[in-house]
Amino acid sequence: QVQDLKGKFPFAIRVYCRVRPFLSGKSSYLSIVDRIEDGNITISIPSKNGKGCKTFTFNKVFGQSATQAEVFSDMQPLIRSVLDGYNVCIFAYGQTGSGKTYTMVGPKELTEKNQGVNYRALGDLFMLAEQRKDTFRYDVSVQMIEIYNEQVRDLLVTDGKIRNSSQTGLNVPDANLMPVSSTSDVIDLMNLGQRNRAVGATALNDRSSRSHSCLTVHVQGRDLTTGTVLRGCMHLVDLAGSERVNKSEVTGDRLKEAQHINKSLSALGDVISSLAQRNTHVPYRNSKLTQLLQDSLGGQAKTLMFVHISPEPDALAETVSTLKFAERVA
Ligand code: ADP
Ligand code: MG
Repeated sequence: QVQDLKGKFPFAIRVYCRVRPFLSGKSSYLSIVDRIEDGNITISIPSKNGKGCKTFTFNKVFGQSATQAEVFSDMQPLIRSVLDGYNVCIFAYGQTGSGKTYTMVGPKELTEKNQGVNYRALGDLFMLAEQRKDTFRYDVSVQMIEIYNEQVRDLLVTDGKIRNSSQTGLNVPDANLMPVSSTSDVIDLMNLGQRNRAVGATALNDRSSRSHSCLTVHVQGRDLTTGTVLRGCMHLVDLAGSERVNKSEVTGDRLKEAQHINKSLSALGDVISSLAQRNTHVPYRNSKLTQLLQDSLGGQAKTLMFVHISPEPDALAETVSTLKFAERVA
């Protein structure tokens, strides 16, 4: 019996692709990106008989020269829907070094111009809440956690000791939930979280690329005339690097990390593609990441995935596998 489940699962996901520029003045003539046209990106793939090409299609493609403001430019409706009581999830996918943190946070030397999605989203959230202040009262609070080796840790601790948190389905009840009333409050907390995340990491052992970090913004709005309360939340996720590690080269802890990352990213892919196919069973329970994001993936929630790729020829194999992953969910 065929049933139309379309109305039942109004799942909305958009996938944007972003190409990182060549770093530190390197000439870009070597770029593997052949062309970008609307939502299409064509990659040149050298083959035995000369040059081959493959085109991938997304909702949008941002080339090397796209600014942070351009990348954020059409996201205001998403932020508005958080204030309307919907859940939103914005996440960055891609191999290490492809620009995920740049998109979500920005570069190391932050200026107003190069601030990433997190800052802009919160800026808009507070601005829109202010515009509605005669009709709604909003309370905003944030949590910041990381998932490392399938363990959830609270990043908003002030004593520098990162503890594991218990996760009961969607919530991380014992991770600090901090009330905020301005973008600068959130920036302070994000900085605290970033510092805690760096604890224990060394130059050669940058753990941030091997854990998922998630800034969750909880919004509660009370309609001042009717008293109705709306709750929305926004997850801003910087995923662990998607690169496949060579099993013959890594052992021990690195292999274990790689297996956890692999498992959680494929669980995420499975959830999104089963939502896209409107399956009745969505396998949220297969990883901590998908459990955590469950309330903002599927149902009435809105999801935006930024897929990042590097332009260098030596990253070609990873780039193609990233684009294939993204195309599967798009
Ligand atoms: P990831 O988080 O995926 O590992 P990063 O965001 O750290 O990658 O990016 C790697 C490097 O490239 C950083 O030095 C970053 O500042 C730089 N970078 C990434 N994307 C851009 C961009 N769009 N414009 C300028 N520099 C970028
Ligand atoms: Mg990063």
